[in-house]
Amino acid sequence: MSSKVFINGEFYDKEDAKISVFDKGFLYGDGVFEGIRAYDGKIFKLDEHVDRLFEGARAIMLEPPYAKEEIKRIIMETCRINNVKDAYIRPVLSRGIGDLGLNPFLAKKASFVVIVDKLVMYPQEIYEKGMPVIVASTVRSSLNALPPVIKSLNYLNSILAKIEAANAGVPEAVMLNESGFVSECTGDNIFIVRKGVLITPPREAGILEGITRKTVIEIAKKHGIPVEERLFPKIDLYIADEIFLTGTGAEVVPVTSVDKRIIGNGEPGKITKFILEEYRKLTKTEGTPIY
Ligand code: PMP
Repeated sequence: MSSKVFINGEFYDKEDAKISVFDKGFLYGDGVFEGIRAYDGKIFKLDEHVDRLFEGARAIMLEPPYAKEEIKRIIMETCRINNVKDAYIRPVLSRGIGDLGLNPFLAKKASFVVIVDKLVMYPQEIYEKGMPVIVASTVRSSLNALPPVIKSLNYLNSILAKIEAANAGVPEAVMLNESGFVSECTGDNIFIVRKGVLITPPREAGILEGITRKTVIEIAKKHGIPVEERLFPKIDLYIADEIFLTGTGAEVVPVTSVDKRIIGNGEPGKITKFILEEYRKLTKTEGTPIY
């Protein structure tokens, strides 16, 4: 059955879900989006995702066409109309239709779209055995250029690094910032474990402040695992005891090699496995019910 897509107040069949070529989101990547996940009929961290969407919109002076509560209601409604329990949910706010110039204020009204789709997950094998990554030569956008804290429709910086990953035959690439410190991956945050301490790059490293990242930090603190948010260089990846990536779709993914250096003993580490287990417990118990 074809899925239904919400576009500016109406639901359309997937095949007919279209946006104008004059939309600034299409022409310039002028907009923001979210990636949300529903587990067994409940939307995980809905408020956090909608808050981040609105923060991004505020940063780029984009006036959402609906209030926050209305946006949440539309997201729930789109899940209901698609009759889903487990899903990937993609709300998109784009600047809307204007002329071909750059001035965003000539667009009269922002567009709001919600797509509900099947989850595209990493294969189960990766959770059991871990995955290889590379460090990309493409540097993460600077905070004062295209700030990674905004989940904008312009993902070319990530895509350039993803091309490097794909060409190297690995699923993900780690990106360094302009100062050579580790920032994040193309679509996931990164954690390393060194001598029992969980370390993750801070906001100022140039990262999207992942909602999964925040949840993982909370899990670690709750269970007495020391956590440090601090800058670290590429070499610390090579000598880490454990590495894992976090993201809404990915959850907690073990990394077992970086640029062909084997991490730890080449298998998902103890802390990684513990955090993944605790994270999955939360996804089973928390969330906003759709029905
Ligand atoms: N970094 C980037 C660049 C991302 O696109 C994402 C989301 N896919 C993340 C990190 C993880 O964020 P979250 O945990 O909120 O999904």
